[in-house]
Amino acid sequence: MKPIWIKNAAQLATISGANKPRTREAMSDLGVIENGSLWIENGKIMAVGSTAELERIYGERASEANIVDATGRLVTPGLVDPHTHVAYGGSREREFEMRLEGATYMDIMNAGGGIHATTRMTREATEDELIEQTTRRLDSFLAHGVTTVEGKSGYGLDLETEIKQLRVMKRLNETHPIDLIPTFMGGHAVPREYKGREDEYIDVLVNDMLPKVADEELAVFNDVFCEVGVFTPEQSERILLAGKELGLVPKIHADEIESYGGAELAAKVGAISAEHLLKASDEGVRLMAEAGVIACLLPATALYLREEAAQGRAMIDAGVAVAISTDCNPGSSPTTSMPLVMNLACISMRLTPAEALVAATMNGACAIGMEEKVGSIEVGKQADIVMWHISNYQELQYLFGVNHVQSVWKKGVQVVG
Ligand SMILES: [Zn+2]
Repeated sequence: MKPIWIKNAAQLATISGANKPRTREAMSDLGVIENGSLWIENGKIMAVGSTAELERIYGERASEANIVDATGRLVTPGLVDPHTHVAYGGSREREFEMRLEGATYMDIMNAGGGIHATTRMTREATEDELIEQTTRRLDSFLAHGVTTVEGKSGYGLDLETEIKQLRVMKRLNETHPIDLIPTFMGGHAVPREYKGREDEYIDVLVNDMLPKVADEELAVFNDVFCEVGVFTPEQSERILLAGKELGLVPKIHADEIESYGGAELAAKVGAISAEHLLKASDEGVRLMAEAGVIACLLPATALYLREEAAQGRAMIDAGVAVAISTDCNPGSSPTTSMPLVMNLACISMRLTPAEALVAATMNGACAIGMEEKVGSIEVGKQADIVMWHISNYQELQYLFGVNHVQSVWKKGVQVVG
């Protein structure tokens, strides 16, 4: 494979520094190099600096490289989406209409729609059908500059289908350019056949599903929907601790619809991240900052459900590391556009353009344990790179609703443009 030399970038936003969650002022430090340059070889980043510096090191080898002229362009790390439900069957556009006619998310779920409808369609789909549908979504992620994606099960809610979803993600991680990091989420909802027998479902989850998932190494994380009408904080804790015993790192959908102690629980069980947090209490946020739990905020979901977004600004000011994500799912956020999510992070959560970019790269990588490999442009990391058809990082958030991706490289292979 020929080396690649990307040179003359108007701005090269490296996000360089320690591979750890960025908080407070560090969330604004993009490590921008003007007239920046990087050398890629064997899928890895070999050198980063000004174009003049790289001329000195690699000038003599220029003829053996593919040279990419990034004059007038912004270059960033590939974006990281740390929270998706990407591997699902079917589609729910009719519910979108129902919501516009006045139904709430919980109305639809209680009527057998929502997660239950997708569960039905995911159970019915073959593994190959799920592969085909999920591939289309992953292709769309790549087209929007996203090179690493977390994906959750949780549309099976029975052993067989949960495993099917995780196997689909495993196969896609091996065959699709995107790194797809799997999370088990049997705790996404109580399946309808267990209505009124919630704790019996949790028994199955804890005694059958989690051991199988851990045994076959099908997931890195274990996530639960802690919400009024879904799982209580006590039930959520049981599920998360059972997974932790088996080596699955806790994540938690917390305080999305009502303030329910989810943020507090995230801190208590040592979750790597807590998700949504629209209604998180001040005390919960303080405990998250203290425990180093990353807040994974999903402003596209808030927009889609016409809810007020999470208090991203206040969380950063309280010392919480904030990551952002599409929440790509068929009900409350059917999008693959991380650029849109960065725009919304600025508009509806008052992050600065620089903070939004850190939230979509390094902090996202930290939220899924990928910070040693991706999330910044530094020597030794995977060459996951995006060249944007704009010249600076402010424009990325300012010119909204448009896909500015020009080219994407994944592990040094050009996959877009
Ligand atoms: Zn979610």
